[in-house]
Amino acid sequence: MAASENQFIPVDVGGVDLRIDVKATHKAYEDLTEECTCPQCRNFMAQIQEAISPALVTELMLVGINPYKPTEILHICPVQTGHSYGVNYHFVGVWSESAQLKLEPSQGQMQRVPIQVAGIGGHVYENEMPAPDVFARPYMNLELNLTAQWVIDDPEPK
Ligand SMILES: [Zn+2]
Repeated sequence: MAASENQFIPVDVGGVDLRIDVKATHKAYEDLTEECTCPQCRNFMAQIQEAISPALVTELMLVGINPYKPTEILHICPVQTGHSYGVNYHFVGVWSESAQLKLEPSQGQMQRVPIQVAGIGGHVYENEMPAPDVFARPYMNLELNLTAQWVIDDPEPK
């Protein structure tokens, strides 16, 4: 899809003003079938109902993201309350001018803005992580800091 065909809608995601093509994002999640089978990812998916709150589900769905289909799950480390994860959701979108004012000092091409969605901290990134093929450019990714218990039979990462 050419960028000129995108329909970017101004949306406030956790206090960050973004321009998101909600329809294209929603369609990409419908088409998304990739799922990692490593233990860290399988464990998060086994706990996803507990790890994400109804308020977070609502916020993500408003912009076309399917909260139950993370595009990339990063296991960070064990913490006192379980395991810390960086859970990523790609979306078709671009910065607004006001969001660009919040950019943290850039590291190469990667740009990021801190965000809080339904009380969950994280960052919105541009040029940080390639998206699954179903996402048209321009896309970005939202990474949220979530915690999950270790529930699968595989050995718990130390
Ligand atoms: Zn994995």
